[in-house]
Amino acid sequence: MMTEKTPLPAQEMFLLKMGEIVLKGLNRKSFEQRLMGNLQRRLHPYGKFRAYSRQSTVYVEPMNDECDLDGAWEGLKQVFGFSGLSRARSCAKDKDAFVETAKSYLNDRLLAAKSFKVESRRSDKSFPMTSIQLSQYVGGLLAEAYPHLAVDVHHPELTVYLEVRDFAGYVHANPEPGAGGLPVGSGGKAVALLSGGLDSPVACYMMAKRGLALDMVHFFSYPYTSMEAKEKVLELARLVSPYTGRCNVYVVPFTKIQEDLRRNCPEPYFTIAMRRYMMRIAQMIAKETDAHALVTGESLGQVASQTMDAMLVTGAVCDLPVFRPVIGMDKEEIVRIARKIGTFETSILPYEDCCTVFTPRHPKTRPVLSEMLEIEEGYDYEAMCREAVLNAEVVRIRPGAM
Ligand code: ATP
Ligand code: MG
Repeated sequence: MMTEKTPLPAQEMFLLKMGEIVLKGLNRKSFEQRLMGNLQRRLHPYGKFRAYSRQSTVYVEPMNDECDLDGAWEGLKQVFGFSGLSRARSCAKDKDAFVETAKSYLNDRLLAAKSFKVESRRSDKSFPMTSIQLSQYVGGLLAEAYPHLAVDVHHPELTVYLEVRDFAGYVHANPEPGAGGLPVGSGGKAVALLSGGLDSPVACYMMAKRGLALDMVHFFSYPYTSMEAKEKVLELARLVSPYTGRCNVYVVPFTKIQEDLRRNCPEPYFTIAMRRYMMRIAQMIAKETDAHALVTGESLGQVASQTMDAMLVTGAVCDLPVFRPVIGMDKEEIVRIARKIGTFETSILPYEDCCTVFTPRHPKTRPVLSEMLEIEEGYDYEAMCREAVLNAEVVRIRPGAM
């Protein structure tokens, strides 16, 4: 991590406000380190930046003119752990430099707003004015220069922030919301079951937001499901990766297991038995890769295999916790998030999923665990699962420039 050193020339840069991390106690340092690492990785495709943190703010400065500031700005909005982001301009630590910088850098916003106030923060205690004096001085001159602006200290449309720090001054205005959440990886790693639908990419986004790093598993039933269907799933993993960070997608061959079930499993139990295989395999991969939970996109009552009883029977093969972040959400709410994170258009492409290839006519909505166990007696599921894991193709996904 770069540290605060000599000042760079006056330029545009970013101030990022840390979110929930600031409530952490003794372990705050490790959350911050994780956040700074994620930040650096996210910035990498956009050029050379230096980033350092002071109190609850991270300062990000471009090191040269080649940096793609707009790209980096969009990328940083997807980094979990920040509650707000501002674009700022640095300036000399001089009261009139603050005025001039505010006028030139924020001119459009000062013209568009009806009311404003100035707020100053000062960490350089050698600066000759107090924060209040600086705010009053700059506020007074801005009010003169923009006579349409009313001063409103309680509910201003525009707040002009001034910061006097060790090596430079900074001017910025109303921050934009950050991605929220906790730094990816700060809560450990989980394995997410990724289908080609709407729900599972949203589930991945939601668990990454709570600080989980993710690997993903996709069950692929070639030739019943096409190569295009597999590409669609990999594309979904890529689309969600600006939020989840780097991950591995395990594409697990599932045809043999499904064909075996079709021969041997009573039709009403087919889907549940298949889902038990999925959970077993995902759990095997989790245990081999130091992941400590599974994530699915199940939503209560959405289909027969997502009733409470069905989830009891599928979950019974797991000893790791199973996180189902969209369990209480309506499709409409899930769609809203899918649109926000950019997975919607790909999710609705009409490719088949292995779940839809062999669909029982009358699936059991209230399966009974003892019946399931009886059906599975004599299945060599351990060997089947191991073989599937051994033959999995691993695809590495890295978020790049957008
Ligand atoms: P999604 O739930 O992603 O919209 P879906 O609704 O088609 O897709 P369901 O049949 O509802 O999928 O399956 C519930 C969950 O099981 C999915 O959210 C996903 O976590 C997992 N799942 C289903 N099919 C697959 C698959 N082929 N590979 C990996 N996971 C799967
Ligand atoms: Mg679903």
